[in-house]
Amino acid sequence: MLSFDNRLLNELPGDPIQGAQLRQVHGALWSRLDATPVSAPRMLAWSPEMATTLGLTAADMQSDAMLQALSGNGLLPGMQHYATCYGGHQFGNWAGQLGDGRAIFLGETVNAAGERWELQLKGAGPTPYSRRADGRAVLRSSLREFLCSEAMFHLGIPTTRALSLVATGDSVIRDMFYDGHPEREPGAIVCRVAPSFIRFGHFELPASRGDIDLLSRLTEFTMQRDFADMAFPADMPLHERVPIWFGEICRRTALLMAEWMRVGFVHGVMNTDNMSILGLTIDYGPYGWIDNFDPGWTPNTTDASGRRYCFGRQPDIARWNLERLAEALALLLPDPAPLVESLGMFDSTYGQAWSQGLAAKFGLRDWQDDDAALMSEIFELMTRAEVDMTMFFRLLGDMDMQAPKAEALRPAFYREELWQDFHPPLYSWLQRYGERLKRDNLSQEARQTAMHKVNPRFVLRNYLAQQAIDQTTEGDTTMLQQLFSAMRQPYDDLPQHTALYALRPDWARHKAGCSMLSCSS
Ligand code: AMP
Ligand code: MG
Repeated sequence: MLSFDNRLLNELPGDPIQGAQLRQVHGALWSRLDATPVSAPRMLAWSPEMATTLGLTAADMQSDAMLQALSGNGLLPGMQHYATCYGGHQFGNWAGQLGDGRAIFLGETVNAAGERWELQLKGAGPTPYSRRADGRAVLRSSLREFLCSEAMFHLGIPTTRALSLVATGDSVIRDMFYDGHPEREPGAIVCRVAPSFIRFGHFELPASRGDIDLLSRLTEFTMQRDFADMAFPADMPLHERVPIWFGEICRRTALLMAEWMRVGFVHGVMNTDNMSILGLTIDYGPYGWIDNFDPGWTPNTTDASGRRYCFGRQPDIARWNLERLAEALALLLPDPAPLVESLGMFDSTYGQAWSQGLAAKFGLRDWQDDDAALMSEIFELMTRAEVDMTMFFRLLGDMDMQAPKAEALRPAFYREELWQDFHPPLYSWLQRYGERLKRDNLSQEARQTAMHKVNPRFVLRNYLAQQAIDQTTEGDTTMLQQLFSAMRQPYDDLPQHTALYALRPDWARHKAGCSMLSCSS
């Protein structure tokens, strides 16, 4: 069914102690343990695209052996359960050892095309890194991770993937609002998949402990396994390769940030342990999608006062995180200057990707210097007038620019009084935008088609995910399946899913899970 080649276990040092008892793990990158069985696993959803990529058939996915493996109750031949050790900066502060507290690896599978994919179960029980928590995940957070990973993939944005969503049949106790009222909630497990789950924090932890040997072994391993297409001369020493490789990490991270900003995705917890070395979106927790445009919005209640991880700050935070990674890698170099130079790759890549991305969003052939003013003007208007980001760009794409009408954008307004106040400046902006479009001399159809390819119609708004969670909790997966189907074609019109292309309703503005989310998951 799947063939495994667990290079990380074979090539990097492991913890001599096995099992899930809590401990500080030094000099090793991984620990062996067993997932904790669950009482009544049931497959709620699985991704046909991910299954196909791994070489799995529908029959494989529906088999009992697969269900047992995807719930942590059994192993397929070649699978091994292990968790890895990493640290991280959380909300700006060094947090020491963290590690896979509730992610348990199944191994590295290699498909027919020779692609390597790591598989892990999120919520399959405690590990040495579970600290004070239980190693489990609740249905609401697992469903959100399952849907959003696949939605992100179909949007064309680098991300870890999800193969399956399995209900465990066991309940998990969570204090959702951190207000002293813990409750029982249904548990679930996502099998997530990525070419590599290595994070910035994997490098930071050995660096913080002065463990240069582990740090350099991990660096060599990651370059060889996960960046195999970066060709270095055979005799090039590690300290010369590291800054070049770090420049590539900066480049990928910058591209990812430009993509998040393009679609209005807010990660919510951009700690360095949640930053993928491959520049993938990783660790879907209290994330959100921009409804009314607001650079200051954060979906994470823990972040509400500081807004460290709000929409508009994401590129700066990514750069800050890269600086922490550079500090760790600096231990491998006689002089850190080349790493600082590589950081420039972030700035140049982001600047270029962002302006190109904006040009595409607005249907321009390419970015011209005087476009910046036109765009900042509309973003400011959208913020002040509380205009829905997704709907605005979709409607703008549909607009007949021979005779632009502000009225056509009215459905993207949340508040009638703001529409009244802002439609005159919107109209005058549309006039100038129309003039700018004329310079490009693109046909109406060409512009519309191009805009619809970069401005999604369907994004996983929190209130939609919450409706699927409520229904699934009651045993009805209809909404889950509907959302999953729309999120797999986010740029298409899909008339059968018109109901999913709508402003966040008023009732959802302040309802838990529909706007803000806590980290409790
Ligand atoms: P996060 O910020 O959610 O990515 O998690 C930060 C750290 O807490 C990671 O080391 C996680 O593995 C760990 N963690 C979060 N939730 C749990 C849980 N329910 N059980 C064990 N560890 C957890
Ligand atoms: Mg995490």
